[in-house]
Amino acid sequence: MKILVTNDDGVYAPGLWAAVRGLRQVGEVHVVAPDREQSGVGASLTLHHAVRVRQVTVEPELSDEGEANYPVTAYAVEGTPGDSCVLALEQLVGKVDLVVSGINRGSNLGWDVMVSGTVGAAIQGYVRGYPTLAVSVGSVQNPHFDGAARLVQLIAHQLMEQPPQSGFLLNINVPSAPLGQITGLQVTNLGNRSYGETVREEGFGHDKRYWIARNRAILDGDQEGSDMWALRQNRISITPLHLSLCHQEMIASVESLFASIPAQLLGRQD
Ligand code: MN
Repeated sequence: MKILVTNDDGVYAPGLWAAVRGLRQVGEVHVVAPDREQSGVGASLTLHHAVRVRQVTVEPELSDEGEANYPVTAYAVEGTPGDSCVLALEQLVGKVDLVVSGINRGSNLGWDVMVSGTVGAAIQGYVRGYPTLAVSVGSVQNPHFDGAARLVQLIAHQLMEQPPQSGFLLNINVPSAPLGQITGLQVTNLGNRSYGETVREEGFGHDKRYWIARNRAILDGDQEGSDMWALRQNRISITPLHLSLCHQEMIASVESLFASIPAQLLGRQD
């Protein structure tokens, strides 16, 4: 089994290597990840300049095929998480059996999937038809990666035993707790808005600038069955995602709202 591991926290992030250590017991692991922290860049790609890639030396323990372990290779990309996944699948690694993005330090719940670099990288696996996991743990401070690493290993093992007929994208959030304190696993809906932004102004005149932070947790709207709800119950949340953002139910009302526009725009006197 051939597995691509990428992330948005950067190629040296401990969460990524926690995933690698679990996954190399299931198949050969290829790490292709940004050379620095890129959280919050979403699915952005670098299209206006060339992107450099360099091979990263993995710890000696990870470079040889020990007993029941497969080899690991790693590349650092001077670009976004999305760039990393595109370069891996199109050029550096080629076809894989599984794409894993993470393990991210901090949850990616509800509408946060729109700005998440972890999900942004995963989307590039999904659109190419691969089984793809975006994996995060629920805490930025002192995150516990053990539960998430074990979960990813178990999922990879199951996919190897029963190869899926088509690709998919699962957004997985694991409580940041020792494995024994996780209370279950729930397949969930995507919740609503989980974080609000605050803006802080500094400087004066031409030197005026603004800091945007996403530091206001929004706790309403996380109805039972949502990803936020599951994580708050200390359960693992698995949300299947797709990319159909079109709001089907609104099509008729938008048509009637703007019914007179075509005539005005095109100057017809119908
Ligand atoms: Mn991140």
